[in-house]
Amino acid sequence: MNTGHWFYRSEAEWAAVVERLKLTPCPHCRAVGTLVRHGALVGFDDARPPRRTLRARRVFCSDRHRRPGCGRTVSVWRADVIRRVGLTTRTVWGLLRRAVAVTLAAAVRGTPTHRSERTLRRLWRRFDHSQSRLRTALCAQCPPPTGPPDPGPRPALAQVLAHLVAAFPDPVDPLAAYQSATGTFAL
Ligand SMILES: [Zn+2]
Repeated sequence: MNTGHWFYRSEAEWAAVVERLKLTPCPHCRAVGTLVRHGALVGFDDARPPRRTLRARRVFCSDRHRRPGCGRTVSVWRADVIRRVGLTTRTVWGLLRRAVAVTLAAAVRGTPTHRSERTLRRLWRRFDHSQSRLRTALCAQCPPPTGPPDPGPRPALAQVLAHLVAAFPDPVDPLAAYQSATGTFAL
């Protein structure tokens, strides 16, 4: 397991995390044998109307019953969660793709979600501000794809998305693949 944030992509992956808990060092205090399951974080998804959905599982480094843990918790995130907003990586991927290909306004209008236009525009700014961090992380996976510059209005950002697909060839959800593989939130 990587040292950044923890993610899981399926119930089977979560089951595997649980199975290894007793052998996994706590990311805070490095104690082994202290981690136990500790509930879940629930939020809303991006459907219209929004539905309550599980966003992360919690793990507790137990200091109860004389266990030597540190008493802190760890979140194990669903890999398709975008932090701080009730949106999935799939929805945000669609937004980013359309925004680099056409215009941000068209992308915002075409995104099927109950989230406000302001939220979507803020997410776009988060992507814009994250681009150099994303580039660095992607270069650790594979070199950027070569070829003529993207003909759309945002060639530099289009290049980041092309790099993402080259590193994580998942046509519908490369952002979830990125989060899971790198242990960092894409945005
Ligand atoms: Zn601990």
